[in-house]
Amino acid sequence: MISTKGYATHDANAKFGPFEFERRDVGPNDILIDIEYCGICHSDIHAAKNEWEAMMPSTYPLVPGHEIVGRVSQVGDAVTKFKVGDVAGIGCFVDSCRECSPCENGTEQFCQKMAAFTYAGTYMDRVTPTYGGYSDKYVIDERYAHNVRATGDLAGVAPLLCAGITTYSPLKRFKVGPGQKVGVVGLGGLGHMAVKIAKAMGAEVTIFSTSPSKESDAEALGADHFVVTRDPANLAPLAGTFNFILDTVSADHDLNQYFGLLGVGGTMAVVGVPPNPTQIHQFGLIFGNKTLAGSLIGGIPETQEMLDFCAEHNITADVEVITPDRIEEAYDRTLRSDVRYRFVIDMTN
Ligand SMILES: [Zn+2]
Ligand SMILES: [Zn+2]
Repeated sequence: MISTKGYATHDANAKFGPFEFERRDVGPNDILIDIEYCGICHSDIHAAKNEWEAMMPSTYPLVPGHEIVGRVSQVGDAVTKFKVGDVAGIGCFVDSCRECSPCENGTEQFCQKMAAFTYAGTYMDRVTPTYGGYSDKYVIDERYAHNVRATGDLAGVAPLLCAGITTYSPLKRFKVGPGQKVGVVGLGGLGHMAVKIAKAMGAEVTIFSTSPSKESDAEALGADHFVVTRDPANLAPLAGTFNFILDTVSADHDLNQYFGLLGVGGTMAVVGVPPNPTQIHQFGLIFGNKTLAGSLIGGIPETQEMLDFCAEHNITADVEVITPDRIEEAYDRTLRSDVRYRFVIDMTN
């Protein structure tokens, strides 16, 4: 076994502290990654506080983290994708059944036997707990690890493994490209990635935000337009003008006002999960043959495609790098939206 140092919380109200545990030995198809950076995703906070208990109860000790980048320090005999010294990434899951149709189609996040999520779950034996990237090492089958070809800012690459693929996948699926008008609702960790990726795909991008103070950021990120949604008068002139809208907001809000902004045949996709269900008025979808869609991260092939796309277009997340003793502070500030736009933990010391 490989002794590993991490940071864990021991119940829903506890603070994070050092936690030592063991990872499996490197098998023939495994690689050992020395973790350099791990992003703090909003899901980490929900899991640490057991806020998704009804659907996914947390098990403790809990070591969160599924935006992982590091260097390969050991490879198994049968490994072909990696060699020692390569930069590798791990996203939201680390194994799946490999036999069901979603697994065969590269949408392993929907594995019918449920994928082994990177933390707060179990491996496919359904016994061994998974511990995430707030730690110094991870052992993973190479099939579930990603090649990181980006050079330079690795801290900014880490959030691509969740925030990046969460936004890339629906933008790709709904064929966002040149000549299209794309709206991004919410300018946070997800929204800022969506803007960068949609711009790189060639679209004209409008940010919808409740915070007038983010207008200068929107411009810096490359957005073409910025609309403050608090005043409905700002939305009226935009009726029927969008091909696609990506809603990244995870606070309660009204979706219906955005249906009217879509043109005929337009699509709105949601990737945020607000605390309460939302009411939809069907008229808003029926008039104009509009589609409301959902999207959950991406499979292994698409995540690799996203990383390659971001490397090619020099896209990284805007991050604030912290040491592991500041996890609590980072959680508090993330909950207050006081981060531009993702905290990343430096796991190297
Ligand atoms: Zn995440
Ligand atoms: Zn499967």
